[in-house]
Amino acid sequence: MQEVGSGIFPTVDLAVSAAEEAQKHLRQLNWEKRETIIRALRQTIRKNAQVFADEAVKETGMGRVEDKHFKHLLVADKTPGTEDIAPRAFSGDRGLTIIEMGPYGVIGAVTPATNPCATVMNNSIGMIAAGNGVVFSVHPRAKKVSMHIIDTLNKAIVEAGGPNNLITTVLEPSLENTDQLLAHPGINMLVATGGPEIVKKVMSSGKKAIGAGAGNPPVVVDETANLEHAAKSIVAGASFDNNLPCIAEKEIIVVDYVADQLKKYILQNGAFEIKGNQVDQLKRIILSEKQDEKHAGCTVNPKKYTVNKEYIGKDAKEILKVLGIDVDRSIRLIVCETDSDHPFVQEELMMPVLPLVRVKDVAEAIDLAVKVEHGNRHTAIMHSKNVDNLTSLARAIDTTIFVKNGPSYAGIGAGGEGYTTFTIAGPTGEGLTSAKDFCRSRKCVLVDGFSIV
Ligand code: NAD
Repeated sequence: MQEVGSGIFPTVDLAVSAAEEAQKHLRQLNWEKRETIIRALRQTIRKNAQVFADEAVKETGMGRVEDKHFKHLLVADKTPGTEDIAPRAFSGDRGLTIIEMGPYGVIGAVTPATNPCATVMNNSIGMIAAGNGVVFSVHPRAKKVSMHIIDTLNKAIVEAGGPNNLITTVLEPSLENTDQLLAHPGINMLVATGGPEIVKKVMSSGKKAIGAGAGNPPVVVDETANLEHAAKSIVAGASFDNNLPCIAEKEIIVVDYVADQLKKYILQNGAFEIKGNQVDQLKRIILSEKQDEKHAGCTVNPKKYTVNKEYIGKDAKEILKVLGIDVDRSIRLIVCETDSDHPFVQEELMMPVLPLVRVKDVAEAIDLAVKVEHGNRHTAIMHSKNVDNLTSLARAIDTTIFVKNGPSYAGIGAGGEGYTTFTIAGPTGEGLTSAKDFCRSRKCVLVDGFSIV
């Protein structure tokens, strides 16, 4: 077999057949060995967390090294493993029935440029814990670091006594190779983490598919909030990895009565405000307008803009430099007041530029938050001490993740309870994916036996 690196193959066919062979081998190993493999993956991710963070930022030109490092440690420590797929049992007069969670076989997983390492590592732990092999289709912009990770993870699996090539990919990622992977008969399940196009593609593939798509999370602040805490949380969440995460705060909606005070605290905690012409100038730099047929006639978001890739995931300092403003690196975020129709509010910018919209009261804030989330049902954040207000937004917006009184990343287990994932599946409904979502359920019924009740 023409293997280029551990798990890296020149063609989709070879990548799939190697993963198929490895997955058959994995199924023959006992449970204890599978747990040893998962432990080895965690250890190697922890050991290489810094290297992968450095390489990802260098190759993609997006994000912050220290935040990616943090994410990698989070993956190692808080991604659920084999414990996630414990069997269920029913015991009674007619015997014993168990429901066991078994693998699909080989999964085709598509990963984003914005979060190349954490997605590959998090998916690998969950998919292998569930007994699968996986063929990754990585973003061409992050191919080197993705391949380095795949090679490293495979070596850790082999050292732990598992099969080689449980995780594979192709040497030259491309849209054509992704299409081949999606249609390949050896692929039993698809998981896409990315924008709307790829999510739509996997959902119309005819195969079992998980789609984890785009978001545009609003953060709402009402007049009862602890404003200093809200400001610190907003800066921390919105500037984390330069706003690349799909869950990161993308627009502030604040009740007018407390808006000045909130903004004062935001500016005291690592943000810089731009105004008037500077906002218009930035708009011209980071967005270009296009008339999109798909959105013509749509009243909510009639115009679509293309976000200039050159600025996605860049430091606030670098973006400000283009406007002729010099700040030190302690400035992590740019804020600006806009109206609610502004494209900074409507579009998923994925850079540390956060618009602030004033509204007259919490009812208006909730209505607007629902509108600008565009029905993605992804993530929303609210700062409030009023339980009724929190409940009203949670019900109205009905997102997969709803964070109260903390930064958005509390929703994926960083500073909030619960496990972590980097594949948040709103469109297909799995939510925060983990090993249990990469399984088929099998029911085994023993009639009139083994029940001692
Ligand atoms: P992207 O959609 O451009 O690419 C994602 C992946 O899909 C890449 O591997 C890309 O090569 C592939 N792809 C895209 N279009 C394709 C097509 N037409 N045919 C075949 N393959 C295709 O997104 P990106 O810039 O890499 O990532 C950012 C997007 O991902 C944002 O919208 C963000 O919100 C979303 N995201 C979602 C989650 C989640 O868990 N829901 C996590 C991370 C990122």
